[in-house]
This record gives sequence, structure tokens and C-alpha cells, in this order.
Amino acid sequence: MKITIDKTRCTGSGHCVKACPVGAITLQNGKAVIDHEKCDLDGICIPACPHDAISLEE
Ligand code: SF4
Repeated sequence: MKITIDKTRCTGSGHCVKACPVGAITLQNGKAVIDHEKCDLDGICIPACPHDAISLEE
């Protein structure tokens, strides 16, 4: 499984960056990018996104 960002929905608001407890999300060119090496799949960022841009995929 992995966390994915829908770049068409992401507005670069940064809510997920603040929500991630392990610092796995950064903004690059105004869009959220996940560092899959750091991400532990806790899913905290999913409800943190007000634009429904983050999901957990198989
Ligand atoms: S699932 Fe958790 S660890 Fe992974 S990017 Fe989201 S908040 Fe960070």
C-alpha cells in the first residue's frame, strides 16, 4: 500500500505537511509530495486534507 496525492486536487495548502508526524510530506512546485521511505502509512494526512486529495492505495 502507499499514500498517493491527486495532483489535480492538491492546492498546495500544506495542511498535510503540518499533520504528518514523521515529516514525510513536502511541497514541491506547489504540490504535496510523499517521501515513501519516511511514510509509515498511519493515514493521518488523509482527513487533514481539506481538498480530499490524499488516499491510501493498494
Ligand atoms: S500516512 Fe502518515 S506518515 Fe505517511 S505521509 Fe501521511 S501522515 Fe505522514
